Amino acid sequence: MTRRTKIADLIRTEPLNTEVLVKGWVKAFRNNQFLALNDGSCAQNLQVVVDFENTDPSLIERIKFGASVGARGQLLESQGKGQRIEVKADEIYIYGDCNPDEYPLQPKKQTLEFLREIAHLRFRTNTFSAVFRIRHALAYAIHKFFNDRGFYYLHTPIITASDAEGAGEMFRVTTLPFDKTPRTENGEVDFKEDFFRRSTNLTVSGQLEAELGAMALGQVYTFGPTFRAENSNTTRHLAEFWMIEPEVAFNDLNDNMDLAEDMLRYVIQYALDNCADDLKILEERLIEEEKSKPQDQRSEMNLSDKLRFVVDNRFERITYTEAIHILKNSNQNKKGKFQFPVEGWGTDLQSEHERYLVEKHFKKPVILTNYPAEIKAFYMRQDEAKEGVPGPTVSAMDILFPGIGEIVGGSQREERLERLVNRMREMHIPEEELYWYLDTRRFGSCEHAGFGLGFERLVLFVTGMSNIRDVIAFPRYPGNAEF
Ligand code: ATP
Ligand code: MN
Repeated sequence: MTRRTKIADLIRTEPLNTEVLVKGWVKAFRNNQFLALNDGSCAQNLQVVVDFENTDPSLIERIKFGASVGARGQLLESQGKGQRIEVKADEIYIYGDCNPDEYPLQPKKQTLEFLREIAHLRFRTNTFSAVFRIRHALAYAIHKFFNDRGFYYLHTPIITASDAEGAGEMFRVTTLPFDKTPRTENGEVDFKEDFFRRSTNLTVSGQLEAELGAMALGQVYTFGPTFRAENSNTTRHLAEFWMIEPEVAFNDLNDNMDLAEDMLRYVIQYALDNCADDLKILEERLIEEEKSKPQDQRSEMNLSDKLRFVVDNRFERITYTEAIHILKNSNQNKKGKFQFPVEGWGTDLQSEHERYLVEKHFKKPVILTNYPAEIKAFYMRQDEAKEGVPGPTVSAMDILFPGIGEIVGGSQREERLERLVNRMREMHIPEEELYWYLDTRRFGSCEHAGFGLGFERLVLFVTGMSNIRDVIAFPRYPGNAEF
């Protein structure tokens, strides 16, 4: 009995003139003879040459696009153009038929919108196979990056009780009945009766818990699902997404920026080194997509240029204040071409402003730092106006990428108990609920910093796809939780 060999292994090792058994799905079948087989192990198809004169015609009839088939025969150097090797089949096996009249996928170009409607089958297209192989490679590269640098992977909880983070709207977790909800004397829902004896939610971020780990393990990171019930139907937001959150003791804002930049460069380089075939498929897809855009909206760079550009150039680092200055004095602003005109210091930047800075002004990734405290979270470290005097900004950093906008958000954390408590009071965040968080500042506090990288935004950038719903296998967004 010959054992099955994966196509990727055959292409890599080329064991010519030996008998092999391959299994996969039919990508194409021409002239009742040339079968293109793909088993998902790599982007390439393997050519199988069917001996149609000596094969049962009823079997040949069943070799249809999408069918699951096997072939046993000699691996030979290919006579034809387009491939180096092929299998000359002695035997063909049909494992699962695929009726072309009923199969929603067709061997032609189908729109991403249509494929999103049949997301349970879209893995089978070249585009989505490539996206999900690259997604895997990026996840692996992230773990490798941190492991190689002595970080510990910390699993922070998915169900949390802290609702004080303010990172986004939360999904409630409860086993209370909808009818006959238990009530307190005041008529409020009585969470004492609930599973955890308190109100709980799905996590919006693992940061606060990661900080607890960093205060002993030194360098930790999380890589897990996060949930935000934000009702935003954008191409960059999901209700369930994956986030990477490193947290490092004794790091300041500059160390934090260096870490984020090194990580992004490392994982993108990893994809360039290890996903060349898949990137080529996606680059060609993007070229086609660009052709349907008006000339002035087309990107000047193709996908691999864009990735190499990020790997080869240091990111521009500027303060929020400098960014406001640039935006205010830009022709775009003076001619009234921003939907939200840049008035002055203190306002939050809209994605059109972020994209202007990255795509038009600097033409490279930008790290914006030192935002007004007013528009940032309570745990970010207050900057000093002068020695000992708090200023109006915090040591925050957002990394902005072309076509994506914000890909990373992070900060140096406020390690001074008094300042932190003051800030929490100003923002009406209950101290009792976060006693555990404040304990890190009470006992052995130290300077530390971290950030959150939205994994799907990274996958979006590397694959050149344009909608975040196309880079996660089973997207959740308002009105959709299929599968
Ligand atoms: P945005 O302004 O784009 O909504 P944010 O400021 O809410 O982002 P953070 O709370 O700082 O984002 O989260 C850290 C990172 O997580 C972001 O930089 C982004 O990459 C990613 N992210 C945030 N919200 C979402 C979402 N709904 N879907 C996918 N990724 C997200
Ligand atoms: Mn948000």
